[in-house]
Amino acid sequence: MKLWDAIVVGAGPGGCAAAYDLALAGREVLLLDRAEFPRQKACAGGLTLKAVKALRYSIEPVVRHHIARMRVKRDANQSIVLRRRSPYCIMTVRQELDDYCFRQTLAAGAEYRRIRTFTAITEDTSGVTIIADGHALRARFLIGADGVHSQVRHLTGSGDGWFWRAFALEATVPLPNAAEHELVFDFAPVRDGYGWIFPKGDHINIGLYSYASEEKIDRTRLASYIRDHCGNASATEVIGQFAGFGAARHEIAATRIFLVGDAGGFVDPLTGEGIYFAIASGQAAAAAIKSELGSDVPAHLHFTQGTAKLRAELAISTSAARWFYGNLDQGCRLLSIPMLRAAALNAFANGLGLSRLAAHAKKLVRLTSSRENLILNRHEL
Ligand SMILES: Cc1cc2nc3c(=O)[nH]c(=O)nc-3n(C[C@H](O)[C@H](O)[C@H](O)COP(=O)(O)OP(=O)(O)OC[C@H]3O[C@@H](n4cnc5c(N)ncnc54)[C@H](O)[C@@H]3O)c2cc1C
Repeated sequence: MKLWDAIVVGAGPGGCAAAYDLALAGREVLLLDRAEFPRQKACAGGLTLKAVKALRYSIEPVVRHHIARMRVKRDANQSIVLRRRSPYCIMTVRQELDDYCFRQTLAAGAEYRRIRTFTAITEDTSGVTIIADGHALRARFLIGADGVHSQVRHLTGSGDGWFWRAFALEATVPLPNAAEHELVFDFAPVRDGYGWIFPKGDHINIGLYSYASEEKIDRTRLASYIRDHCGNASATEVIGQFAGFGAARHEIAATRIFLVGDAGGFVDPLTGEGIYFAIASGQAAAAAIKSELGSDVPAHLHFTQGTAKLRAELAISTSAARWFYGNLDQGCRLLSIPMLRAAALNAFANGLGLSRLAAHAKKLVRLTSSRENLILNRHEL
């Protein structure tokens, strides 16, 4: 039986990022997915600057729109505009983005095999065996990049106690003037989450996300949100999916199997952003495997270290989400302070190092104490 350096299950952003780096480094990597590409994925397709920078190649051919301003709405009357001179976010259509990244990964040298199912995973001291479509495949390492419902996570029993999910539902609405639409995050329609409008040139992507389990997000509710914002325009695709959270609490065991992206709970609960974290965790898994293949230090220690910053940022984001969604009026008021607005935008676009986050938190505490003086502007700031 052939021994691969790594088998990667799932060819979304996380799996492709891992397979790309391994293949480029000359490792033998097998990428498995049950889908034929291009394939659909429920996702608004927004990439922050940090995601664009993390990718090893330009994705300009699949960029639909560059975003330099967004509107944050507290309710129908109160909103704040966050803007920069240059774009801090780009819009893609996930089907196009994923197909593009998939082709780049194959061109880098990864081998792809479409599978229907896999039923068992066993690990020993020198490698991992996976039974896919009834055949045994073996590698030194296995990467589970198979999304929120990860079968790798289930079969290895490694999701207990830390993994959790939240639902989002979205629609595509073709509009002749879609390019003129603003990017909107709207905190009025749901609790512990938001409605969004992302312009994509010839259509908008519109949806609802909440991590509150009591919030029922369904087609009726989304249809009413679409009516409020797009009148009688009809949605061509309505599609929902869960996103995976909890990486911050995951204690990575001594194993040759790594969970990345949604499979590993690498989604930010405050913003719902997952593409950047999938790419970065996938690259961290690839780096860990490359490190062990050239040293005596076990790869799981490299992976733990390589994802420490990501997991710390997700931990901070989890606390920030709890505070922000629990204190929306105050949170939106704070966004009306230019310095904090700039810091929030910078964190969204580029991510923040821990020391910078701590510094901003201190400023935030100081400013919160004088919050009585702040008013949330009813007009664009
Ligand atoms: C409605 C919605 C909107 C979102 N919008 C954004 C956004 O605008 N920006 C952002 O950054 N994040 C967004 N997210 C989050 C983002 O989509 C995910 O975090 C991201 O796709 C995770 O990438 P991944 O590679 O881990 O998994 P995925 O992209 O889910 O890829 C997993 C792959 O594994 C394959 N697979 C699954 N099971 C198996 C199996 N048993 N066998 C073989 N293959 C399998 C699938 O076919 C798929 O190709 C959104 C999420 C939702 C639900």
